Amino acid sequence: MTPLHGTAAITPPTALRTIPRDQHTISRKDISPNALRVLYRLRDAGFQAYLVGGAVRDLLVGGHPKDFDVATDATPEQVRQQFRNCRLIGRRFRLAHVVFGREIIEVATFRANSDDGSGDREMENGRLVRDNVYGSIEDDAVRRDFTANALYYAIDDFSVRDYVGGFEDVMARQLKLIGDPEQRYREDPVRMLRAVRLAAKLGFEIEADTAAPIAPLASLLAEAAPARLFEEILKLFLSGHAVASFEGLERFGLLKVLLPETAAALASNRSGALRRMVMAGLAGTDQRVANDEPVSPAFLFALLLWPAYCRALMGLQASGVHAEEAQRRAADRVTLHQLNTVALPRRFSLPMQEIWLLQTRFGNRQRKRVVRLLSHPRFRAAFDFLVLRLEASPEHAEDVAFWREAQTQSGDELSAALGVGAPTDDLLGEDAPPSKRRRRRRRHGAASQAE
Ligand code: ATP
Ligand code: MG
Repeated sequence: MTPLHGTAAITPPTALRTIPRDQHTISRKDISPNALRVLYRLRDAGFQAYLVGGAVRDLLVGGHPKDFDVATDATPEQVRQQFRNCRLIGRRFRLAHVVFGREIIEVATFRANSDDGSGDREMENGRLVRDNVYGSIEDDAVRRDFTANALYYAIDDFSVRDYVGGFEDVMARQLKLIGDPEQRYREDPVRMLRAVRLAAKLGFEIEADTAAPIAPLASLLAEAAPARLFEEILKLFLSGHAVASFEGLERFGLLKVLLPETAAALASNRSGALRRMVMAGLAGTDQRVANDEPVSPAFLFALLLWPAYCRALMGLQASGVHAEEAQRRAADRVTLHQLNTVALPRRFSLPMQEIWLLQTRFGNRQRKRVVRLLSHPRFRAAFDFLVLRLEASPEHAEDVAFWREAQTQSGDELSAALGVGAPTDDLLGEDAPPSKRRRRRRRHGAASQAE
């Protein structure tokens, strides 16, 4: 879970509304058995225990939560005493993780205002009272971001407890910030991205007062931690709702802060070809997620930053830089500039650049080159990328047809199609990569999008 930020000046109403079991749709059979085990164990030990946050929200709209978080009045140490398979994590924001094989149930103690970044800690009767302070369930509810994310499913009577009007908002399918929206965005600008992401994921509307400050405050996002923005981008685009996320980012003026050079390139591309390609790529990503096929951050970023790359490349070539040099420099420049806002790790930016740089090699039909490109570890991803470019401009049709065919042909067929000589001759000839490299290439060859 993300560290939460202070909500000191906000005192929204916290009148409890209890929605009994027969008036909501959450059923225990849809809750992870491990989460239920944790809830029951805490209850049996005399503590309060609730399922909370995204899982309750998702269950209410008939979704399948990917993780189940628990909130309790037990301290992390008390939680640990209840479970052998429990470890405490975080120093300032202590959490208990109860581990069941690959599933982790996160158990958080109710808290009031938390990390405000000041480093202050004030003690009273041995309890932290200022920073990271434990609190009541009401305190815990109002420090959360959206009302829909602040619902508690109680294991003792299977009711839903609502302190902020979240139940009605979920039923009305709207996302509404708890407290004063502008203040909540200023405390943590990433909440603007969360609003767009959750609206895209759930098909919710962002309530008017929650939506209004986003565009005016969008630039604050540039100051958020780059590592956090990288994680948010993955959630925005690799969770099956990439198209809706992208449209939301554009609509609320967040794209130009998150991906400034891409936003500029899209704005100046009058034919709309670049945007068509990006949207086709995102739709393809959503399809892959829906089919349970792997998706890769490298491919995603190659797609998202392709407009920026094309624009940089055109600029460099216009100023007389030789094609190959311009490609390399454009790739480096776009990567470097993007790192100002989003921490894109090298293990993704390097293959991203390779996907770009391989694009020019699809035009070359020299026998040697063809064989080499086919055995390149990034061939499959680069070819998938070429197919996307076809969506935007029909001029790539011939290349796509050629390389699609080339992949299905045996070495001999390929040689026949291209002219004399078996392709293996080339690999053993002066142009051949050292054998070690060939082995490595083959091993990675099938990776395609699955980085
Ligand atoms: P997802 O479906 O992406 O998991 P989520 O709402 O569960 O959505 P998490 O990041 O898992 O998101 O956070 C869990 C809960 O913690 C949220 O439901 C919300 O109550 C609270 N939360 C998370 N991030 C923030 C934030 N930036 N500010 C306030 N509360 C937050
Ligand atoms: Mg979650």
